[in-house]
Amino acid sequence: APVIGVLALQGDVREHVTALTGAGAQARPVRRPAELDAVDGLVIPGGESTTISKLVDIFEMREPIDKRIAAGMPVYGSCAGMIMLATEVLDGRPDQRGFDGIEMTVRRNAFGRQVDSFEAPVEVTGITGGPLHAVFIRAPWVERVGDTVEVLGTVTDGPAAGRIVAVRRDNLLATSFHPELTGDLRLHAYFVDLVRAAG
Ligand code: GLN
Repeated sequence: APVIGVLALQGDVREHVTALTGAGAQARPVRRPAELDAVDGLVIPGGESTTISKLVDIFEMREPIDKRIAAGMPVYGSCAGMIMLATEVLDGRPDQRGFDGIEMTVRRNAFGRQVDSFEAPVEVTGITGGPLHAVFIRAPWVERVGDTVEVLGTVTDGPAAGRIVAVRRDNLLATSFHPELTGDLRLHAYFVDLVRAAG
C-alpha cells in the first residue's frame, strides 16, 4: 500500500489518517523532514492556515515540502490545506505563506459570516457514484485558476452557486470542503489512486 503522510502541525490530522487507512493507504502523521522523506504522498489537513504557515517554518518543513512538490509528490489539501497549496491568498494574514503549489487565487473564509459552516452536494469530476456530501467550515473558495489547473467541482445551488471548490493540477489536489468528516471515502480513495499512479 502507498505510504501517505498527514502534515501534523495543526488541524484535523487524525480524521485524515483514519480516512486514508480506510481507503487502503498506510497513513501516518508527518512533522519532520525525515518523516516526509519516508512517504509517497502528503495530506495537508483543515485547520487554520495562518497557524499552519507559522509552524511549517518553525518545524523547518517549508523547503522540504516545496522540493517534494517540485519532484512530483502528490499532495492533497483540504480547506486550510487548500489555502496552503494556493499561489495567491485573498483575505490572508500578510505573513502567511503557502507552498509552490497550485496556480490559483483563493479567498479565505469566503462563504461569509452568516454561513460559517454549511453542507452541500458537490459533483466531483473523476469520482463516480453521485455527488459528495461536502462539509464547509469557514472555507475558502477559488476565485481564479491558471491554465494548468483543472476545475473538478463547483457549488451548484444557493448563494454560492458556481463557486469553485475542488481543483487539481497534475499531482496536486485541493478541496474547500472536508471529506474526512463524512465517512465517505471516495475522495481519499481518489487521492490514494493518484499516489499509487505516481509511484
Ligand atoms: N478559515 C481557515 C483558514 O483560513 C480554514 C478553515 C478550515 O480549514 N476548516 O485557514
